[in-house]
Amino acid sequence: MDDFYRENILDHYRNPRNKGRLENPTHTHEELNPLCGDVIRIDLHVNDEGVIDQVRFDGKGCAISQASASMLTEMIQGKTLDEAKQLSKEDILEALGIEIGPVRLKCALLSLKVLKAGIYGLPNWTGEDEDDW
Ligand code: ZN
Repeated sequence: MDDFYRENILDHYRNPRNKGRLENPTHTHEELNPLCGDVIRIDLHVNDEGVIDQVRFDGKGCAISQASASMLTEMIQGKTLDEAKQLSKEDILEALGIEIGPVRLKCALLSLKVLKAGIYGLPNWTGEDEDDW
């Protein structure tokens, strides 16, 4: 079972979905994970109906950080901003599907932090405090 998830993570890392930048994003934000050197930037375009109709991510870093960003873009594409806000730490960890230690957790949640901090206006979100959820 673990192998499936590991392969899936490597596949997203090697063939990232929605990688790049948008020309006219309505929302854009970048965050850094200094512990690992990961950088993730997410561009969103939200249409008049409040639906995320375009999403791109860009960045560099370890496989976990890049793969989780790639998975996240697939999860939020086509959702409303409100629906995307419901995405939790558990959703990301479930998509990754492997056990993530405390250090790797920052890698795994970096892309979600970009959304929370830059796009939902929660600049102090770290994912570490239960109150953040
Ligand atoms: Zn990392």
